[in-house]
Formats: sequence, structure tokens, C-alpha cells
Amino acid sequence: MESHPRCRLAALTVVVGTFSGADPESLEFAMRLVVEESAWPTAEVRIRTEPVALKCRACGRTYETETLNLACPDCGGFDVEVTGGRDLRLESLEVVQDDEATDSS
Ligand SMILES: [Zn+2]
Repeated sequence: MESHPRCRLAALTVVVGTFSGADPESLEFAMRLVVEESAWPTAEVRIRTEPVALKCRACGRTYETETLNLACPDCGGFDVEVTGGRDLRLESLEVVQDDEATDSS
């Protein structure tokens, strides 16, 4: 993007899985510090939390939870596979052209 000076980062979204081990609030704080030091200090930081996705090995049921109660809702089993919610990833970047951005001001 640095080779296109008319484009500007407007917002970025980071996904924090419940099982990623990251604390969404401190991550948001850290991301804001990074953004403020970057070439686009006005960019908006959005943090989206993602529930844990699980699959029961006993009955095959797939489900999600945002708590640490991982038992299968169908059979109550604990033999479950974590299929999602472990990630910490950059989900999207919103880039705008400065021409458009200045039109509205
Ligand atoms: Zn089950």
C-alpha cells in the first residue's frame, strides 16, 4: 500500500478466538498503539471474538461455546475435538482512497 500514497488504511479487524489465549481488551489496546505509530494513525481497530467450535467424537454433534463448559450438549461427553476458536488472525483491512475520504469533510 505504501506504493499507492492515495490509499489509506481506514480500519482493520482482528479475530480473537476464545481459545487463542489472547485477551481481547489488551489486544485491542496493543493494536491501537501499533496503529498510532503507523502511517495510518486514524485507522479504526475492530476486535471480533470468535466462540470455540467443537465436535463431539462420540455422537458427531458440532457446536459452539463461549464458556469453558465444553461438554457435548447432546450426549454430555467430553471426548470433543476443537475445530475452531483457536485462531488469532487479521480478518480484514479496509482501505480507502484519500480522494473519497476528503470528499465527505
Ligand atoms: Zn456428543
